[in-house]
Amino acid sequence: MSFDLLLENCRVATMTEGAPYGAIEGAAIGVSGDKIAWIGKRKDLDGTAAQQRVDLQNRWVTPGLIDCHTHLVYGGDRANEFEMRLKGATYEEIARAGGGIVSTVEATRAASQAELVQSAQKRLKPLLAEGVTVVEIKSGYGLDLETEGRQLRAARTLGEQMPVSVRATCLAAHALPPEFKDRSDDYVALVCDRIIPVLHQQGLIDAVDVFCEKIAFSPAQTRRVFDVAKKLGIPVKLHAEQLSDLNGAALAAEYGALSAEHLEWANDAGIAAMAKSGTVAVLLPGAFYALRETRIPPIEGFRKAGVAMAIATDSNPGSSPALSLLLMLSMACTFFRFTPEESLRGVTVNAARALGIDKSHGTVEVGKAADLVVWDIERPAELSYWIGGNPSAAIMQAGRWTKEPCA
Ligand SMILES: [Zn+2]
Repeated sequence: MSFDLLLENCRVATMTEGAPYGAIEGAAIGVSGDKIAWIGKRKDLDGTAAQQRVDLQNRWVTPGLIDCHTHLVYGGDRANEFEMRLKGATYEEIARAGGGIVSTVEATRAASQAELVQSAQKRLKPLLAEGVTVVEIKSGYGLDLETEGRQLRAARTLGEQMPVSVRATCLAAHALPPEFKDRSDDYVALVCDRIIPVLHQQGLIDAVDVFCEKIAFSPAQTRRVFDVAKKLGIPVKLHAEQLSDLNGAALAAEYGALSAEHLEWANDAGIAAMAKSGTVAVLLPGAFYALRETRIPPIEGFRKAGVAMAIATDSNPGSSPALSLLLMLSMACTFFRFTPEESLRGVTVNAARALGIDKSHGTVEVGKAADLVVWDIERPAELSYWIGGNPSAAIMQAGRWTKEPCA
């Protein structure tokens, strides 16, 4: 056997089934091109040729981390609104000062594509520094054809310019644009008849998402959007049951959605339906924290039913200005009572499922992308244990070091 690179003397949390963390001690990983070519115990690998060998000094290796739910591309931010609120401003005062999601929509519409890329790069960098190698980015602050397209194009550009795979999700049905006030069905028609078909034709959409909520779009409107996505062969995802129970989880499952997200108010029927359809529960502790929510998603129900759980930053300017995925592991354990292993599965193998890329990403297995993180830790639980900090020692994305291991 011959590899471009042989990583030796490491412990690997492969995140496959079986042993806790799918762990292999005394391991080696062969990398050829941008793929994993071999993984197993070093002693089982004899007579191997490798162009390059790296001794990882018994460090832990995990799959590259996957942030499967973000809204990273937008204009402006809402730090001013955050400060106003904490100084006692009322909702009306903030709205009058141009706050809320409308302010982000206005700033996004006013931003050029280059400006959107530049500001998102600043937010993406700290995620990549922690070992994120795949990120999902949603549109949803343009709410018109041109700006939704600009957001998705900016997402694609980020994937070309930075060492990260980007999955672009069209969330045109995120909020009602101000010019459609009291005409939400007309806006849904625009999303269904123009925005999704046109942007799909331009190759900009990997998945379609809807915010199904009393303050956003109804289950009936969600169906209209999902029917269009289905006809075009685009996978769907759903923001469901964040603030109230609208049977969104069951609706997502009915359409074979990759994932349903938030889910604080998910009911038993929804959980059972998700288990049956293989829909991943994406839980977002950053939004739970920032909104000071108290209702915890039904974690035990998901566990019992065998629903795969993922976690993500939900990085967005309003309800989760999160720039650390590792912090979400800690929050998932503290707020949601995840085990550290569930947390790590939530940002690797289950996050890959939530994006429909589990055949190529999410575990350390032969044939998968050589997305790997080397950690300065004694046990994988530390990734959930520390509050802040970044123990990544080396990062590889698609077979290339983006952070070199040092001796
Ligand atoms: Zn979201």
